Amino acid sequence: MVTPHQDLKYILKQYLGFDRFKGNQEKIIKSLLKGEDVFVIMPTGGGKSLCYQLPALISEGTAIVVSPLIALMKNQVDAIRGVSLDDGVAHVLNSSLNKSQTKKVVDDLLLGSTKLLYVAPETLAKEEYVSLLKDIKISFFAIDEAHCISEWGHDFRPEYRNLQVIIERITTIPPIIALTATATPKVQEDIQKNLGMSNAKVYKSSFNRSNLYYEVRPKIDVNRQIIKYIKEHSGQSGIVYCLSRKRVEEFAGLLKVNGIKTLPYHAGLDAKTRSKHQDMFLMQESDVIVATVAFGMGIDKPDVRYVIHYDLSKSLESYYQETGRAGRDGGVGECIAFYDYKDMEKLEKFMVNKSVAEREIGIQLLNEVIAYAETGMSRRKYLLHYFGESFNESTGEGNDMDDNVRWPKKKVEVKEELVQLLDLVKKTHQKLRAKELIHVLLGKVTVLNKSYKFSEEAFFGCGAQKVERFWMAVIRQAVVNGFLKKEIEGYGILKLLPKGEKFIQSSYSFIIPEDHDYSNVPRKQESYTYGVSDVFDTQLFVLLKVLREKTAQKLQIPPFAIFQETSLNDMAIQYPTSLGELTQIFGVGEGKVKKWGQEFVDLIKNYVKENEIVRPTDLLIKQVLNKSTHKVFIIQNVDRKLDLEDIAKARGLTMGELISEMESIVYQGTKLNIDYHFKNLLDEEQIEEVFGYFMTAETDNISKALEHLEDNYTEEELRLIRIKFISEIAN
Ligand code: ADP
Ligand code: MG
Repeated sequence: MVTPHQDLKYILKQYLGFDRFKGNQEKIIKSLLKGEDVFVIMPTGGGKSLCYQLPALISEGTAIVVSPLIALMKNQVDAIRGVSLDDGVAHVLNSSLNKSQTKKVVDDLLLGSTKLLYVAPETLAKEEYVSLLKDIKISFFAIDEAHCISEWGHDFRPEYRNLQVIIERITTIPPIIALTATATPKVQEDIQKNLGMSNAKVYKSSFNRSNLYYEVRPKIDVNRQIIKYIKEHSGQSGIVYCLSRKRVEEFAGLLKVNGIKTLPYHAGLDAKTRSKHQDMFLMQESDVIVATVAFGMGIDKPDVRYVIHYDLSKSLESYYQETGRAGRDGGVGECIAFYDYKDMEKLEKFMVNKSVAEREIGIQLLNEVIAYAETGMSRRKYLLHYFGESFNESTGEGNDMDDNVRWPKKKVEVKEELVQLLDLVKKTHQKLRAKELIHVLLGKVTVLNKSYKFSEEAFFGCGAQKVERFWMAVIRQAVVNGFLKKEIEGYGILKLLPKGEKFIQSSYSFIIPEDHDYSNVPRKQESYTYGVSDVFDTQLFVLLKVLREKTAQKLQIPPFAIFQETSLNDMAIQYPTSLGELTQIFGVGEGKVKKWGQEFVDLIKNYVKENEIVRPTDLLIKQVLNKSTHKVFIIQNVDRKLDLEDIAKARGLTMGELISEMESIVYQGTKLNIDYHFKNLLDEEQIEEVFGYFMTAETDNISKALEHLEDNYTEEELRLIRIKFISEIAN
């Protein structure tokens, strides 16, 4: 056994194979070895585990590591066993172990060969384990992911609350090391209070990830924007976060039909599938993981180049941790979030079932996310302020790495208004929150204003010449720049800080950028889709129509059977110049592409070349049409020759609705063989007659067909024969 006096760097190399410590690691380890309580705040990927693993390996006794997730513990245990000759060096203790496994753990513990024992907090609470641990020598306790202690964190776990009591029952002597990646000042305070370690040495690393670029875009045409982005970054690894499992499945499906190597990941998938998908992502067999927040805990892929938030997170802590998975290798990571205020309202609604306190906390966390999305100031400054760190936007590292700094918002002088605001905070006795202050400024009569009698005061409505959005921006700036403080326990009550007090006495120029106003962004706005808009090329459309005519004549089939008008339309927008791209066009299936696609592709290729057209290649998005649950069901059961009536009934469709679904299936290029249905319905000749009609008809319109065939058939029959026709001739 090595002693703590040996050179730590030597031990680092010897045990873990690293040449040097990262950041504060060495200081932290020394401090812990001295017997001090230590509190480590270090961003994700900073190397927190090593801060307890290394001292555990070289100390006498066993270190107890509390961690919230079994999966995380298992990974770590495997890693530690890998560097030791003895498997007993690290164990996980939990109730899922069988008898002989438990015995092995207990034996190793009593023998003293176990250096690290990982436990979940609920395991630690069990009486049998407490008495077991009383019997062994403990080197120290490590509380990983310590933010789980605080309700103000993003991952509160009630079992974490009792840790101090349990630890004290086991023994009072050894030191505690608590570690977390996401601690706002409030969470930090909670952790220290709760673990009774207010005298702990605090090691806080900067949270600034200067290689990450932040951008928030309004959530418009989001599927297309993301697909375009991914295609522009093809071959690179990325993560797309969505809030619901359903969205994960849908969006992963959409990416797949658009030719992107993608896998879904969420807690609804079984453990085997999840770990397979995670491995495939690590091994680069999949470029993109579409995931809920369940993904990422403990994964360490260094070259993730982008993290996209399809939906914004429920708190800035989560958001920051998720974006933190980009660029771990130090290369640039782009973090792009799509924001829609309506999403936030929905999240708020979901909180109705929670207790009042939980809801208040949840709403406040959401408000921070909204503020982040809407602010016009340096996003890095905003985020770092949130984590209790000040950032200088002119000299700080990474200061030009966000959209607000690269494309600055209009700036306005708000010296007068800031004085007005601070003064009002004082006059309303520092007991209002941002929204409530704004109500007073705007002179909006509310229950609160009436009961406090603010509506009778001279200051009521003193800021009415400006709008709510403007005041929100001023308040945010006042908070981030240290004039006001947001009191977390008071759910966001604003208090005056000394700097604010001084500003009222002697003010100076204060210039701020305006906030974003996403509510006014037109539904299709060029600057936000960052690309080519959907321009319809009439000239190309005409050429395509002519070719369709020619092809139809040559093959002796009607033009609409070659390609539908809507498909030509789409080609005249998307300019597909390869057969692969042609399959991405609306209503074009493999069959059509093989049969007569080449000529169309050639025409478009020449046209693009001659007219020097910049093609929106990356915009070729194929939709998963109509969430085709009906369609898949119909295709499968028609294949099995099931009675059409029964198929309709099974899906609660009328016959008319079923026929519509089948029409849309064949018009999109999939074959459907419904011959079995005609057997007792129509004879060969009748079918031939209708085929003959469609073959020469100008259009596939049903009323025209009814008229022409002199009502010898019902509308339903004609539509069914048309399905057969399109399926056979066109697909
Ligand atoms: P955290 O828990 O802070 O998110 P981890 O403890 O999981 O981070 O460590 C992140 C990665 O950094 C791991 O792959 C780990 O092996 C690596 N690492 C930790 N310390 C060092 C070091 N001193 N030198 C090189 N790599 C290190
Ligand atoms: Mg960790």
